[in-house]
Amino acid sequence: MSEQPIAVVGAGWAGLTAALVLARAGRKVTLIEAAAAPGGRARTVESDGAPLDNGQHILVGACRHALSQMRAVGVNPILALHPVPFRVLMRRRVPDGAPESFLLAPRSTRSRDLGAAFYSAARDASPPRRLVGLLGAWRMLHRPLTRDRSVADWLQANAQPGGLRERFWEPLCLAVMNTPPAHASARVFQNVLRQSLMAGDGAARLLIPRRPLSELFADPALQQLRTLGATIRLSTRVRGIESRGGDGFILTLRGGETLAAGQVVLATAQRSAAHLLPALPALDPLRGELGELGARSICTVYLRYAKALPELPPLTGLLGQHGQWLLPRRLAGDPHRLAVVVSAAEECPMSDAGTRWQRVGRELAETFPGLGQPEQGRVICEKMATLDARPGLDDRRPATRTPLPGLYLAGDFCATGLPSTLEAAVQSGQKAAAAAIIDAIPDLVRRPA
Ligand SMILES: Cc1cc2nc3c(=O)[nH]c(=O)nc-3n(C[C@H](O)[C@H](O)[C@H](O)COP(=O)(O)OP(=O)(O)OC[C@H]3O[C@@H](n4cnc5c(N)ncnc54)[C@H](O)[C@@H]3O)c2cc1C
Repeated sequence: MSEQPIAVVGAGWAGLTAALVLARAGRKVTLIEAAAAPGGRARTVESDGAPLDNGQHILVGACRHALSQMRAVGVNPILALHPVPFRVLMRRRVPDGAPESFLLAPRSTRSRDLGAAFYSAARDASPPRRLVGLLGAWRMLHRPLTRDRSVADWLQANAQPGGLRERFWEPLCLAVMNTPPAHASARVFQNVLRQSLMAGDGAARLLIPRRPLSELFADPALQQLRTLGATIRLSTRVRGIESRGGDGFILTLRGGETLAAGQVVLATAQRSAAHLLPALPALDPLRGELGELGARSICTVYLRYAKALPELPPLTGLLGQHGQWLLPRRLAGDPHRLAVVVSAAEECPMSDAGTRWQRVGRELAETFPGLGQPEQGRVICEKMATLDARPGLDDRRPATRTPLPGLYLAGDFCATGLPSTLEAAVQSGQKAAAAAIIDAIPDLVRRPA
């Protein structure tokens, strides 16, 4: 085993996963995180003394790797996540009228049941249009895309009826990809649809956290790393990484301290990763590629009401409003609060947080008569929440191994075929750890007994 530790930079879900896999394999791990707490873009923050997530997160049953990592750190997903069968309920406010509802609720995700649900949900189209759309939907799920294109083009090419597009496919695309359909990669979207809708009812199930986000993985992961003997450095920003020409790396930390490492897993988001790559010409193309990956924002609007809220479905899509998805926080133990997700929030900038939450509160009151006005709002905007999932994204995402032996990338920006999600982050962390372990084997063999 290498004498020097392996340094993992970044304690988001990707870095924590990489560190755990390495530590469980007996490697000496040093995990370095700039923030005071782990979790990265999926963490709990404090608001007026109460825990709030930095963003409302949802998993699906298809997130097999993320769920198994949670289990491995002692979190029982059955208790920590509330399962909701795959169904899409949308609501649209109608000025001076009763709100409209739309429901796509297949009995199961078998092709026949999905087809029946699509057919009945496209009721505003003529029967022949509905049948053509049904065949198109079948193609979308079954025929792998050879050439990437935008989701909007793909829906058009597969004759999806207007109503179904507007009330089902487009909101689903925005939720899954955090990129509007006109700009989103059909290949990545298709991959998600195939992994969740074609792998049994369990894979399609939505899983809504019942516990603060940090408790789902980051905190217990850190605890397990400590038990395994890993060195944890929180509130420690890595300023630079230098290669020692085949003899490991020197990391410069905040304050000028240095740390020697045999291998490095760079598990920050893409911009920091580009910045931290050692200054070697061989890494310039990778630096350029990382710099070109765009990002998109998400704002989560938390609204607090004076009285406990009426029973609402666990997830409702909102049509024609500033926010796109509504989740009551009752599931997370707060019956007075709602969360509203604003995906790709840069598309609709607001002058300030107050304007944003008041608008969302007003629109909700019109959509759910009886809800009333919130007494308080809190908006958390993450400017670099996810990748901009444009067509061709997967060809531009970096692989785990960099051109510099011993230096690996992990993070939701790496090539996984998935959008930026917890599942992508965990898969990338597992891949980076596996590559580092495999690449260290010759050293182990050469070492004297
Ligand atoms: C508001 C919001 C909503 C989301 N909703 C969902 C959802 O519903 N479902 C889903 O699956 N995903 C969702 N995501 C995406 C998901 O949170 C991310 O894909 C995932 O958390 C990324 O993990 P990561 O480890 O790759 O990166 P990060 O979490 O960004 O981790 C990188 C870590 O590196 C640290 N770091 C950076 N620079 C340095 C440095 N120089 N030195 C040391 N440390 C450094 C950072 O502080 C950070 O902790 C959402 C994200 C946001 C922001």
